[in-house]
Amino acid sequence: MASDTEKIRLVFKEIQQISREFKSRYPVFVHQDAIGMGIFLFSVMMILLGFAGYLNYGVHAGWVILWIAFWTSLLHELEHDLIHYLYFKKIPFLHNFMMLGVWVFRPLTVNPWFRRYLHLHHHKYSGLPSDLEERGVTNGEKFGLLRLFILPDLILSFVFRAFKLYPEIRKMEKEGRFTKEEVKNLYRVGLLGFLPFGIPLHLMWYSFALLSLLSGINQFYGNILPQPEWTQEYLSAITPIIVLLVAPNLLRQFSLHFITSNIHYYGDVEKGNIFQQTQILNTWWAIPFHLFCFNFGVTHAIHHFFVQETFYIRQLTAAKAVAVLVKYGVRTNDTGTFSRANRYHISG
Ligand SMILES: [Zn+2]
Ligand SMILES: [Zn+2]
Repeated sequence: MASDTEKIRLVFKEIQQISREFKSRYPVFVHQDAIGMGIFLFSVMMILLGFAGYLNYGVHAGWVILWIAFWTSLLHELEHDLIHYLYFKKIPFLHNFMMLGVWVFRPLTVNPWFRRYLHLHHHKYSGLPSDLEERGVTNGEKFGLLRLFILPDLILSFVFRAFKLYPEIRKMEKEGRFTKEEVKNLYRVGLLGFLPFGIPLHLMWYSFALLSLLSGINQFYGNILPQPEWTQEYLSAITPIIVLLVAPNLLRQFSLHFITSNIHYYGDVEKGNIFQQTQILNTWWAIPFHLFCFNFGVTHAIHHFFVQETFYIRQLTAAKAVAVLVKYGVRTNDTGTFSRANRYHISG
């Protein structure tokens, strides 16, 4: 670790230098707050355009889902930057306005003010048992159908694993692995984290999926059972919400969670050793996922080394920064993580 600590410092310096050079070449990027707000407003407008296309101009649901999923991936990046206080730190009203905005259009996610605690903990204890943000999206689980099934859905992920995780969390709480504030936050996440948006929308989605499945089976067998009128009425009433809010976010979350839970290592990571925390995934087959999580697998490792940078500068300087990471020994395209349940070490 001693040599890794030195290397971590050097990687930080080199990436910081890349970012400085970029900003001095393009001075417009000093207007960080305004650019953040600009990306936020533009993404929201594009999402609303998707809404209008579906509701007023008969654009096919499939295209609308892909379109909205893409723009919500920018909102996810903005949320992450906001969690690190990169926009309007000194103007709380605008900061919180953006926090609310990135949540409203990604309503299946946990309250971002609560997520902040989980995420800052993730940076300090990445890959350790108390890194609940990553474990929440199945990191560290054995790969299989169950993991794929619960991957995009935070509520199912919670329901299926609560019995296993709860005693573990209590134990870690007693061992003092969380601060008092973090413990309070964990209870808030459990009780209120998916209100007012997440719980009602998930229930709507489950009822939609179940009723559509049942009526599909019934139709397949020539409508042997009489179908109550209300089911069709209910389904057509909620279809726009499913198409515009639920489906794009499930697609986005599937892509993001698939990538993030496979680029982060878990279980045998040395505390604070950033080299063991993440890898770079820039292989061709990750491209469809990257379309809906804004190239997360390529750039997130850079973020672990150099936290205080906006997502768009990280994207624009990614080629150079990734070259630095590779030079110092960050892994790339390590697909063995699938069979190792995210363990860092290849053997043992
Ligand atoms: Zn972060
Ligand atoms: Zn991370």
